[in-house]
Amino acid sequence: MRLKLVDLQDGGSGVIVLLVCSDGACATTTGAAPQLFASALNFFAATQCFVPDKDHSFKKVPDLETFDFIIVGAGSAGSVVANRLSEVSHWNVLLLEAGAEPPIETEIPWLYRTLARTRYDWHYVTKNDGVKQKALKNPLAWIRGKVLGGSSSTNAMIYVRGNDHDFQTWVNEGNPSWTPENVNYYFKKAENFQDLKLLRDTGIFNTYGREGPLVVNTFNSTVRKLTKKILKSYSYIGIEEVLDVNAAEFHGKGFCAISRVTARSGVRESTYTAYLKKAKNRRNLKIITNAFVTKILLNVDAKAYGVEVEINGKRNRFLVKREVIVSGGVVNTPQLLMLSGIGPREHLLSKNISCIVDLPGVGNNLHDHLYVPVPIYGDEPEEEENKAELMFDVVKYLYNKTGYLAHTFLTDAIAFFSRSKDMAYPEFQSYTGIFLKNSTVRQFIDIYKDDVLESIVRYNADKSLYVKILNLLHPYSRGRIYLNTSNPYDYPIIHANYLGDDRDIQDTVDGIKILTKLVNTPYFKSIKAFIPRIHISECNEYKYPSDLYWRCYVTHMIASMSHQVGTSKMGPNPEDAVVNNFLKVHGVTGLRVIDASIMPFVTSGNTNAPAIMIGEMGSDMIKNEYLPK
Ligand SMILES: Cc1cc2nc3c(=O)[nH]c(=O)nc-3n(C[C@H](O)[C@H](O)[C@H](O)COP(=O)(O)OP(=O)(O)OC[C@H]3O[C@@H](n4cnc5c(N)ncnc54)[C@H](O)[C@@H]3O)c2cc1C
Repeated sequence: MRLKLVDLQDGGSGVIVLLVCSDGACATTTGAAPQLFASALNFFAATQCFVPDKDHSFKKVPDLETFDFIIVGAGSAGSVVANRLSEVSHWNVLLLEAGAEPPIETEIPWLYRTLARTRYDWHYVTKNDGVKQKALKNPLAWIRGKVLGGSSSTNAMIYVRGNDHDFQTWVNEGNPSWTPENVNYYFKKAENFQDLKLLRDTGIFNTYGREGPLVVNTFNSTVRKLTKKILKSYSYIGIEEVLDVNAAEFHGKGFCAISRVTARSGVRESTYTAYLKKAKNRRNLKIITNAFVTKILLNVDAKAYGVEVEINGKRNRFLVKREVIVSGGVVNTPQLLMLSGIGPREHLLSKNISCIVDLPGVGNNLHDHLYVPVPIYGDEPEEEENKAELMFDVVKYLYNKTGYLAHTFLTDAIAFFSRSKDMAYPEFQSYTGIFLKNSTVRQFIDIYKDDVLESIVRYNADKSLYVKILNLLHPYSRGRIYLNTSNPYDYPIIHANYLGDDRDIQDTVDGIKILTKLVNTPYFKSIKAFIPRIHISECNEYKYPSDLYWRCYVTHMIASMSHQVGTSKMGPNPEDAVVNNFLKVHGVTGLRVIDASIMPFVTSGNTNAPAIMIGEMGSDMIKNEYLPK
């Protein structure tokens, strides 16, 4: 007997019936068999304990209660700080998070995309300048996690530390503690590397920490044949395959590898699962969810003495003996500082907020990794997966956490590369998304206007689409976060200013031109790969391919990789920086910022690992200051 899942309509209606087949002939069922199998599925699901955690907001904290430390935001960095500070049993710590408990969808890697535009996302939208990003249907949305674990609960799970050069630029900017050696110590402190096969490699063994709380591993993959072919293709254009991008030294034109990820046996590892779950029962740590901090309370001497917070529609005040730590992320941290009277004087006065500390840098220096898709069409890969097999992958996931649900992308190959052989750090990063013929590709790129989207997917009826996603790693352009009004519930204005500096356009074009060389490598040739012209009316006048076409394409098509940083820049000079080397806000006592917003320059890669490292190092800075040596 065989079981077969059949789509009722050609082209995939999504209406699936289960047929029981023997000797090649299939019969419809009475319903008993599907019921039996549905029960088995339920059984699998139940044995995997996919049960959400309880709401923490029950931990009632009386108004005006005093703590040693109050942390605003339980994200990638804030959760680390809450865990590390509450290790000191005589410190009383309060963690306030505007979002709720993570839902099951945060645990299953493939489902991370379904979290955007739900209650677990802040729903931020950037301000469009009317000149760029014209191929986008709407102003660009910025997804930010609003949940315990913050964006580490909703991100794509790729774990990249960055390059030594990145941290050296932080030191050169006047932040002496952030040497490559020191930051590597804190990466290691966080990590619990669990890919046992890879640990046999001495370089990898020496690179990663193995005793930290954060599990770093490789996706539980059962669909990696294609990834290997993609990696091999890079090697033909000078981008060498290595075992691990965090352990290998960047040299030559670049390197590529199967990516490391924050995954624990096929399930997401966020800072909620790694740091908070383990600490939440400590008597000296109180966590309140659905708690939106609206103001940092400052006295006349600019000393932080507490916070104002709304919990279930009720305003509370909590007081602090030592420090308030703001870990609200790149948008909310500068917003909260400005609402509290810390920021550019003229701007605050224009919003009727009295300026307690004039810090022009608050909200400034905003930058991000932009991305641009490079669509490559080709024949269907040999290891084509049909719908029925994908259905069985769901069962596989429930059974042993493998199959496509255990990934965030269908291929986990990442590449870093530069234009010149002499660079010590990468200028570009690239991922590959693969959409089989007649697939759901539209859903993944629905940010584009209908005619542009149709142009991208037009060959997908009988070809597979291998979308290369290109990131520009070190943009020159800088944007800014402004207050819209003095009401904390009014979203700030996000002026992202992608491509504001013209050099970013040509640099991105140069990155695209490197990627287009892939179509002439053996695997892509074997599938008759080609890169079609995308019809964007303003670009149709340019010859294809040409620099002018690609410049036009980039200007119209770029979007965000969600790696925003920089709005509370770390540096010695209060004229442009917000926090000093020890993450203390200039001109204020008892107030630090510990999150991705302190990065003076974005790192060469994904920003979750650096945000966690900042949480680790910031926590030790606090301990070093207050605990006896
Ligand atoms: C969709 C997406 C995909 C990504 N993919 C990757 C990836 O694959 N790999 C990678 O390395 N990086 C990735 N990133 C980036 C990475 O996740 C972020 O850079 C990192 O999580 C930022 O950490 P953070 O601590 O600065 O902020 P967050 O993790 O965003 O935490 C901020 C927290 O503060 C809370 N908060 C904010 N304001 C208040 C307030 N006033 N009161 C109370 N609470 C508040 C928020 O709700 C949130 O929980 C991705 C990001 C997104 C959004």
